[in-house]
Amino acid sequence: MSRYLVTITPPTPNGDLHLGHISGPFLAADVFKKAKILQGNEVLLISYSDDHQSYMARKAREQDRNVLELASENAALIEKSMQAMHIDCDFFMRSGNNGFFAASVQRFFDAAVQRGLICEAEVSVPYDDELGTIGYEAYARGQCSDCGYPTDLSQCENCACTPDPSLTKDIHSPVTKRPLPSRPMRRLALDIDKIMPVLVEHYAQRPPERLLADFIVEHADRKGQKWCFDRNGDAGIPVLYQGNTVVVSTWFAGIAGYHAALCEYAYRVGDMNLVQEFWAGDTRHLVHFLGYDCSYSHAIAYPGLLWADTGKVGRVSHFTNAFLKLDGLDFSTSRNYAVWVRDIVQEHDPDVIRLYLALFSPEESPENFDQTHFGEWARNSSGLFARIAAALLYQPDPEAAFSGNAAMVSAWRAATGDQGFSMKRCAVLQMELLRGIERALDLGLDVSAVVFVAAVLGYPLHPRLSIQLLQRFQLSLEDAIDMLQRHSGAAVVSGAELEVA
Ligand SMILES: [Zn+2]
Repeated sequence: MSRYLVTITPPTPNGDLHLGHISGPFLAADVFKKAKILQGNEVLLISYSDDHQSYMARKAREQDRNVLELASENAALIEKSMQAMHIDCDFFMRSGNNGFFAASVQRFFDAAVQRGLICEAEVSVPYDDELGTIGYEAYARGQCSDCGYPTDLSQCENCACTPDPSLTKDIHSPVTKRPLPSRPMRRLALDIDKIMPVLVEHYAQRPPERLLADFIVEHADRKGQKWCFDRNGDAGIPVLYQGNTVVVSTWFAGIAGYHAALCEYAYRVGDMNLVQEFWAGDTRHLVHFLGYDCSYSHAIAYPGLLWADTGKVGRVSHFTNAFLKLDGLDFSTSRNYAVWVRDIVQEHDPDVIRLYLALFSPEESPENFDQTHFGEWARNSSGLFARIAAALLYQPDPEAAFSGNAAMVSAWRAATGDQGFSMKRCAVLQMELLRGIERALDLGLDVSAVVFVAAVLGYPLHPRLSIQLLQRFQLSLEDAIDMLQRHSGAAVVSGAELEVA
């Protein structure tokens, strides 16, 4: 049994959740959580509302609103949308004006200071004389110094690097659209050269997966990287440094945010031992789900800060995603170009939406959500779900059911492993099972055994249907977890049989 602390990158509370969010870290983290619970582990899924984003400060300023009020309204919508999609987030922290968060940020900052990881860097920073704003992030855009893609100056939305302002072209204000001059500033930075040997050792033991593999290789070879993280004059979190207050960016604070969310959750449920067990214990496993654009903070800075805090990185995994498009275009909260969770769950079964998003998950490369295709697929799948739910079922012998589907159980275990986890692969396998049941029903065969296996293995993807089917067998989820542990051992076959397309 392991203890997994699973994290979803904190959403910016500038609006509700749309399908672009769900298809990225939100659904994948929940599928991972449910799969690990089925395998008999303890899992906590946490996230938080990213109230200290520069973009939030800009939006509040534009709307003449209080930033915390605006964040709080949207955080409530985000939580409701997660619930509507059956994403079981154990705790969604509100980071604004939060003592747990402030304490954790100071803790990780102090740890970095004590390890000598903080340095100063003289860099040019865009400045808007007219608005009086500094272009660290929400107030400046340009063409990325690495890939040329339009981005802010904090982290490239395309290649995930941290653009060098002195090499970034066409720096302009996204508010006034005018070009911005730059001025030299002394800034605080993480000295990545001092972290890199720790990271190289860490990733040698736990090879990064998906898009992260090339990213780590490329950044491991770069010398003199300094990750500027102060945000004096912009939104961020104040910390004490050498007797002065310094504002640090929300990106620097991310690992502290996850730690704080765990601390506040433990406090609220009255069991502070959870912090030790899920953060510092030997069996803990920290698993980050993130959009690829958040790679620098999560895969380079945070392992370094973990090491600064405790002297070891420990078990940490990252699962990145590329992005979903909507009928060929980028989702946009600000332009209201999105399919909102609150709307689509009125029309479709959340289980069907989950399965479709998992099948077309942008794990390795962008995917497109075609609304017409989804509509047709959803109608067919709802029909199939209803047909399976209404089938004549007898309680099968679990051992025989699992061993009769041994290749499928093995492939499922491979797709839900600590290494190589893939929600998409889980969904492909599950569709094979469901289509197999459909064919057997057409032939009038007894489908009890395969429906039982599909109900257990499909729980991470379609939890409501699975619970409903298990009830038909007079089984609870706990029974299913127990049966999977006890009876599927024989079903684990050799690696050669894992190759299921
Ligand atoms: Zn780039």
